[in-house]
Amino acid sequence: MARFDAVVVGAGPAGSTAARELAAAGARVLIIDRAEFPRYKACGGGIPLRTERLLPFPIDSVIEDSVHLLDVAYRGRMGFERDSGAPFAHMVMRDRFDALLLEQARTAGAEFRPSTAVRSLSRDGVVRLQAPGFAVEADYFVCADGAHSPVGKMAGLGEDIAECAAWEVEVRADAGALRRYRSRALIELGYRPWGYAWLFPKASVLSFGVVLPREQAGAMKAYVRRFVARLGLGAADVEVARGHKIRFRRGRERIADERVLLAGDAAGLADEFTEEGIFYAIESGRIAARNVLRAMGGGSLTRYQQDIDHELMPELRAARLIAFMFYGMLRRAPRPWMFASGKAPLLWDAFFAVQKGESTYAREVARIPLLPAIAARMLRS
Ligand SMILES: Cc1cc2nc3c(=O)[nH]c(=O)nc-3n(C[C@H](O)[C@H](O)[C@H](O)COP(=O)(O)OP(=O)(O)OC[C@H]3O[C@@H](n4cnc5c(N)ncnc54)[C@H](O)[C@@H]3O)c2cc1C
Repeated sequence: MARFDAVVVGAGPAGSTAARELAAAGARVLIIDRAEFPRYKACGGGIPLRTERLLPFPIDSVIEDSVHLLDVAYRGRMGFERDSGAPFAHMVMRDRFDALLLEQARTAGAEFRPSTAVRSLSRDGVVRLQAPGFAVEADYFVCADGAHSPVGKMAGLGEDIAECAAWEVEVRADAGALRRYRSRALIELGYRPWGYAWLFPKASVLSFGVVLPREQAGAMKAYVRRFVARLGLGAADVEVARGHKIRFRRGRERIADERVLLAGDAAGLADEFTEEGIFYAIESGRIAARNVLRAMGGGSLTRYQQDIDHELMPELRAARLIAFMFYGMLRRAPRPWMFASGKAPLLWDAFFAVQKGESTYAREVARIPLLPAIAARMLRS
């Protein structure tokens, strides 16, 4: 049976980052994915500048557009535009972006095995993984298999993590529509109790989608259809339409044991204000690699969970507080809140600063000492 220092399951941003850093440090690492690459991933493909900054290689070859304009509306009305002056996020197609991250892992020395769906995991001093026609063992195992995390479940990790639902549609728009939305992201509010729809521009398609509480998953398709139609694109060809869940780790749910750890969506590392997860997937992939390297030679991976609690959870908790406050105000007083947030630069300037990596949610929350109390009140109402 093939044997490695570490096996990584899932070649998304979390897995490829962990594999790249492990291989670059000299570990023998195999990365496995059930898909052939490049593969589609339901995603808006928004890559804030702070996410790009985590990567030690350029991503220019996969950037479809860069946005500095943000249009915000409430059910098609009360709209306003904010300009961040310079790009705050890039737009990518996930198949090409993820293929680039994987290529970097392979260049660093990681082996890759596509079309290999892990079906069972067992431990006996080492970790053994089995897929149809393939088996491998390793001292350590990074489970980066996405929000459904079938392999994380086999390991008994990542249980009781909260989740929401998202739906993405890629629309082949005409040249006029592509021009109209160049460098511009649209956010549509007004979903209850919370959630938003988006339009993100790409080179030859427009990405639309909606993110909502899990209980409203059944309404997502209709909401996106309505949003697309409202923008006059109801007759355009739909290239892809796919749903997926997003998970949120809110407490101290177990994401590591001695030999197995969860990274990225598998660990529920996405924020509850924007629902983005690529930043946290890459960060947790780095923290995962660091912990595997530290443990190699017989140590344990349990410190990984403490590192995540210490390094990522404060930011995720701050994003959650901001989300409670933001959506709570929007539910109670949509008109004054849209008016105030459109006129006052504070909120969106802080948002742009976080997206650009010039600030963090945690720093922004610390500026407003009453915010946790306001958010707690919103949560109860
Ligand atoms: C509709 C939608 C829109 C989103 N928009 C954004 C956005 O604009 N910006 C942003 O930052 N985040 C966004 N997110 C979140 C983002 O997509 C995730 O946080 C990110 O993909 C997490 O990366 P990952 O590496 O953890 O997992 P993934 O990218 O999901 O990769 C997991 C990999 O594991 C593989 N796998 C699964 N099971 C097995 C198995 N049994 N055996 C082998 N391989 C397996 C899969 O094939 C996949 O390649 C969005 C999510 C959704 C659902």
